[in-house]
Amino acid sequence: MHVDLDAFAANLAEIRHRTHPAEHMLVVKDDAYGHGLAPVVRRAWAEGVRWFGAFDVATGRTVRRALPHARIFVWIVATSEEAQDAVAAGLDIGVGDPVLLEDVAAAQGRARVHLKIDTGLHRNGVRAEDWPAFVSRAAELERHGAIEVVGVWSHISEASDADDDAARAEFESAVRVAQDAGLRPALRHLAASAASFARAEFRYDLVRVGAFSYGIRPAGGASDAELGIRPIATLTAPVVRVGEGTVTIGIGSLDGLPSSLAGAVGTPGGPRRLTAVGEDESIVEAWPGAAVGDTVSVFGAGAPLTATDFAETIGTIGEELAVRISPLVRRTYSAG
Ligand SMILES: *Cc1c(COP(=O)(O)O)cnc(C)c1O
Repeated sequence: MHVDLDAFAANLAEIRHRTHPAEHMLVVKDDAYGHGLAPVVRRAWAEGVRWFGAFDVATGRTVRRALPHARIFVWIVATSEEAQDAVAAGLDIGVGDPVLLEDVAAAQGRARVHLKIDTGLHRNGVRAEDWPAFVSRAAELERHGAIEVVGVWSHISEASDADDDAARAEFESAVRVAQDAGLRPALRHLAASAASFARAEFRYDLVRVGAFSYGIRPAGGASDAELGIRPIATLTAPVVRVGEGTVTIGIGSLDGLPSSLAGAVGTPGGPRRLTAVGEDESIVEAWPGAAVGDTVSVFGAGAPLTATDFAETIGTIGEELAVRISPLVRRTYSAG
């Protein structure tokens, strides 16, 4: 899998342009959506990205080692030990339940906290009925110096404008309740990729953009060209055998290709159909002169389909295909 870091930088510039003046938090969960964490965060930092959305504490600490001065947001903190580690590493912590609030307050050092209201997704987050007591406890802990409340945030489905509008109304009211409790959260954040581009009123102070940063577009949504982003990953495989009318390439479901995958791949003889995905090999229609050692582009540059296109052929989304590619598949990076 080859990652074009210059294309990545161009996507980051497009995101900055589209979502200005909100700041871009680059979401890097799942090993930067399968692209490889360290090269991605280093290039993003060089391009001026200052916020990173790391999901869990282990990922947050890895980003911290690469980037001593970045703001790094984590929102999955499983135990009080992890809360302590997160505070010690200077991570910003998304807090969506009262137990975690007490854990981060009890940790050595002053935790930077973003309080999470549940606006309908019911993943984590404090329900509206519990929010007043939650923010008043947070205000008390802040007065004691145990925490600093820097943000209020939520996550939305981005599946329907009506649902998102309802979520945004809940979010606005939660911010007001927090302010009435004496909190002054400077950072409000709600949008991921889709809403950050499509709906200005969802941008607030920070947008948490993962997919679009990597050029992965939403299934069934606007095209890459309309969005001004492009895919940055190319997956290639060598020809390992040439048979009667077919060639065998050295990549399969154990490398992360879904076995139901079907569609066109790029070959030295032009596009050909991928007809079967086995465990460590797959079958492609032959082209004249096919030879062992030829390179086939499964998706990305040189292939007719992007990861998102391919994902759509089996009814899933581009992220899913990207994060499934096994970590054992070697990643290479353009020098950039
Ligand atoms: C994954 C995630 C994002 C990024 O979503 P994209 O659609 O990939 O931009 C943002 N916020 C949270 C809480 C997430 O889990």
